[in-house]
Amino acid sequence: MACLLCKSNNVKRIDKLCDNMKILGDTFPDTPSYINVCNCCGLVYIDMDISQKDILHYYTSGNCVPICYENLFGAEHTKKYFEHIYHTIEPYIDFDSKILDVGGGLGEFASFLKNLGYHNITIMDPAQISIESAAKKGIDTVKADSTQLIEAWTGKFDLILLIHVFEHIYAQNETLNNLKKMLKTDGMMYLEVPDASKYCNDENVPFYYYTYEHIAHMNQFDIRNISCLTGMELLDTQEYLKCEQYPSVYGLYKNGDKIKQAVYHDLGEDCAQAYLELCKTRSRKMTQKYCEKNESLVLWGIGASTAQLLSSGFDRCNVCELVDSNPRRQGMEYQVGTKKMKIISPSELQARIKKDDVIVVMSIMYKNSIIKQIKEMGFSNKIEALSKEDMLA
Ligand SMILES: [Zn+2]
Repeated sequence: MACLLCKSNNVKRIDKLCDNMKILGDTFPDTPSYINVCNCCGLVYIDMDISQKDILHYYTSGNCVPICYENLFGAEHTKKYFEHIYHTIEPYIDFDSKILDVGGGLGEFASFLKNLGYHNITIMDPAQISIESAAKKGIDTVKADSTQLIEAWTGKFDLILLIHVFEHIYAQNETLNNLKKMLKTDGMMYLEVPDASKYCNDENVPFYYYTYEHIAHMNQFDIRNISCLTGMELLDTQEYLKCEQYPSVYGLYKNGDKIKQAVYHDLGEDCAQAYLELCKTRSRKMTQKYCEKNESLVLWGIGASTAQLLSSGFDRCNVCELVDSNPRRQGMEYQVGTKKMKIISPSELQARIKKDDVIVVMSIMYKNSIIKQIKEMGFSNKIEALSKEDMLA
C-alpha cells in the first residue's frame, strides 16, 4: 500500500499490528494489518487490505458512533479546547467567513463558533447520525465524504477545518487536493491530528493509540510536509494537549502554490518503534501472572482494542478459548502463540468450558458489566480481569 500522504511506493513494513481486520466490521477482510513507514516522507501509517470505500462504509453503517467531547472530556475541558482552536483561527476570519468543518461529527465545535456569531458554517460528514445532530443545532450540513469533490457547491470557503479527522482518512492525498479546490485563493485550512511523537508519554492500555480508526500516525514534520505537498503556506503549528490530556499537533495553512518535495524525517519511525516496544512490554506485564500460573484461560471480549494482546502477551499463556458476545466477531480466527483459534459465543462456551478454566475479562473499561453478565449466565468459574496496575508494576 503506497504512502497515504506523498503516494510513494518506496515504503517499508516495521511491524504487524493485528491478525484479522474483520474486528472492525463485516466489510473488512480477514487479513492482517501492518505498520508501514514511508521512505520518502517518513509518514507512519497502517497498511490494510482495504479501500476508502470500506472506510466510508465503516463510518456510515452505524458500526461507529461519533464522539461527544462534552461527555468524554467534560464541559470545562471541552470549552478550553474549543477556545484554543478559536484563538488560532480567529485572526484570519470574520463573522461572515464561509467555514467548512470536514468530518464535523456531532457539530459541537461548529455550534461553539455559531454561538460566537459566525453564521456561515457548513458541516461535511458522511455519517447520517452526525448530519442529523448538526442540523438540530442549526448548522448547515452536507452529507459527503472528503474524497468526493463537491463540484455543485457554489462559492468557495474562507476556512476549512479538519479537527481530528485527517488521521481517519485513507485517501489523504486526494482529500487535500479536493479541499484545496474548495478553498478561496487566500483561504485558510486548520488541520489537527493526534501527535504520534507523544504516544509514549502516557499510561493508557497497550496499543491505545493504535486504534484501527487511525490510519495515519503523524507528528510535527508530517504537518510541515502537508505544506510542501499542497503548496499551502504553514503559518502556525504547535504541539499541545487537547482537553489537557490527548497529545495533538496542528497546522494552520494559507492557500498557496509553492509545491515542494516532501522532506524525509525519521521521527515517525523512531516514535512508532519506541511505542511498539512500550506496548509489548506492558502487554507482557499485564499478562505475566496468567503465564506464570499456567492455568487454562478463556479470554472474554476480543474487541478492537484487545485483539493485539493475543499476539503480544497471551501468546505465551495457556489459552483454551476466545469468547465474544458480539455475533459479528464470532467465527473470526486469531493466531495465539502456536494455535489458530476461533472466537466463539458465550453459549458455545457453556457447552465446552471446564471446571478449572479461568475466565479473563479483556476490557478494562467495561470490566464490571462484563463480570455481571458472565455471572448472570451461570458460569461458576474463577473470573479475573486485566488491570492497568499490573501493566505499570
Ligand atoms: Zn510518504
